[in-house]
Amino acid sequence: MALEPDAFERLWTPHRMAYIRGEGKPSGSGEDEACPFCRIPGQSDEDGLVVARGEHVYAVLNLYPYNAGHLLVVPYRHIADYTELLEGAETAEFSAFTKRCMTTVRAVSAAHGFNVGMNQGSVAGAGIAAHLHQHVVPRWGGDTNFMPVVARTRVLPQLLADTRALLAEAWGA
Ligand SMILES: [Zn+2]
Repeated sequence: MALEPDAFERLWTPHRMAYIRGEGKPSGSGEDEACPFCRIPGQSDEDGLVVARGEHVYAVLNLYPYNAGHLLVVPYRHIADYTELLEGAETAEFSAFTKRCMTTVRAVSAAHGFNVGMNQGSVAGAGIAAHLHQHVVPRWGGDTNFMPVVARTRVLPQLLADTRALLAEAWGA
């Protein structure tokens, strides 16, 4: 009897990983222009879909969201593994931004729940394994059935722009 994967498993299916089919997927190792998470901070908030910038990390909308308001918390440094975050300010801000993503999304959308986490390594489903990023995915009751469909659909750029502006405003409130 085949086991039906639950919603959580479908959520983290590697082939739907952020940016995996997008431009700028890194081909090599090391910090370079090909890494989208290294490139985004050099763009405007609007172009990069950046919601908030901290001293060590930033929050950005996922270009290929699993759900509306799907955010990523990303360190500026090109590090792959969670354990490489420096003790102190960098780790603290990474955690603080994760919490702030949740409170901000809740403030604007009344999300019922969240999936929060990191895929560590390609084998675990990381589309951009070379650069650490934490997913913050809001969930609503009943969204399970259409999520796999949504996840394969690129959201209209204007919708992402509107979502970014909404979250950026709420972030500072
Ligand atoms: Zn990078």
